[in-house]
Amino acid sequence: MTLAERLARLRETLPPHVKLVAVSKYTTAESVREAYHHGLRDFGENRVQDAIAKQEALADLPDIVWHGIGTLQTNKTRRALSVFAWIHSVDRLKLAQSLDRLMAETGANPKLLLQVKLAPDPDKGGWEPDQLWADLPALQRCEHLNFGGLMTILPLGLSPTAAQTVFADVARLRDRLRQHHPYWHNLEWLSMGMSGDYDQAIAAGSNLVRLGTAVFGRGSAVTTTNL
Ligand SMILES: *Cc1c(COP(=O)(O)O)cnc(C)c1O
Repeated sequence: MTLAERLARLRETLPPHVKLVAVSKYTTAESVREAYHHGLRDFGENRVQDAIAKQEALADLPDIVWHGIGTLQTNKTRRALSVFAWIHSVDRLKLAQSLDRLMAETGANPKLLLQVKLAPDPDKGGWEPDQLWADLPALQRCEHLNFGGLMTILPLGLSPTAAQTVFADVARLRDRLRQHHPYWHNLEWLSMGMSGDYDQAIAAGSNLVRLGTAVFGRGSAVTTTNL
């Protein structure tokens, strides 16, 4: 299937309220350009330096919206703020506090999503609920942050039923946070669902899916070394 065919099929499948972020971490700037010409504007990258390289190669396409979706080292926060319009992976208090300081200093104002982990997974970041409730007072003191939703990545290998249950737990956590304190009133986005599980995520209330292989295919060129 070509990129155009995959996109046409996705557009038939995805409900209109669901934002598609095309994850370009395994592909080239030229494939991003092709997707852009088919109407996509939102692209996701895991690593700051990969996003910068693609941004430079695509500088003639100024309305691309870059989403940072990978774990962010605290020492890359400043560069991340200059590249990403959205950061989906705010996954620990120290990173939130670093973002708060730098957003005050630079005036950058990306949309931030809190990454949560509601199924155990040693390989993934994100707040587990107990830690999140413990950190809430400190988070709510980060007055320059602009949290627009929650993000989650599921562990590999869950059944579709189990996946949908975890996604629904994330949606419920979002609802509880919204009721808990005005600081969280703007949590409108649920960034949940990748190529293998986006049906379950949407059924559980996702309104933003991050799709790599479903958009670019499996054979897409790998530009990233040592992921
Ligand atoms: C790679 C990645 C995706 C996309 O994965 P696919 O399975 O190719 O759709 C989505 N979200 C995050 C955080 C990723 O790292």
